[in-house]
Amino acid sequence: MSEDIRPCKLGKDKIFEFSEIVARDLGYKPGDSLAPIVEKLGGKIHYQSLLEMDSASGSISISDIGNFEINLADHTSESRDRFTICHELGHYFLHYIFHKSNGDEIGSLKAMRYGDSFAEYEANWFAAGFLMPKEEFTSSYVKFAGDLYSLASHFFVSVQAAEVRAKSLNLLN
Ligand SMILES: [Zn+2]
Repeated sequence: MSEDIRPCKLGKDKIFEFSEIVARDLGYKPGDSLAPIVEKLGGKIHYQSLLEMDSASGSISISDIGNFEINLADHTSESRDRFTICHELGHYFLHYIFHKSNGDEIGSLKAMRYGDSFAEYEANWFAAGFLMPKEEFTSSYVKFAGDLYSLASHFFVSVQAAEVRAKSLNLLN
């Protein structure tokens, strides 16, 4: 049942840009709740116990545009869940809508975390850009004097996610 997810190959910078545009169009502001965003897109979030889980941290089942379900573990932290939700939305936009709008026939798609397939990196870049837009992240980085805990709490992400974003923007080595 594991099918390969085809990367969009837009490149890291384009994906960061694209995810910021998507977030803005959806009316998302850093730190906002993601539940209304998923709902607005026609998606559902389902929390699974460890026994039900088919993947370490999350997955998405897409039936069609405007019809998908994101599965999350019920034992993970909210900041981690938020990144997972946006990662799965990355699959939705980059690996479903993108291919479909280019005329590819895609019925349904189920994405689970496979570790190091390229599509996973793309979904992570999407999540980082969505949750931590470049300009606001950079100005906040200055405002908080590079304090990763303050940044993480402002953007409601994990400290690790804030650190990775700071590095990708060359604010941190
Ligand atoms: Zn994934």
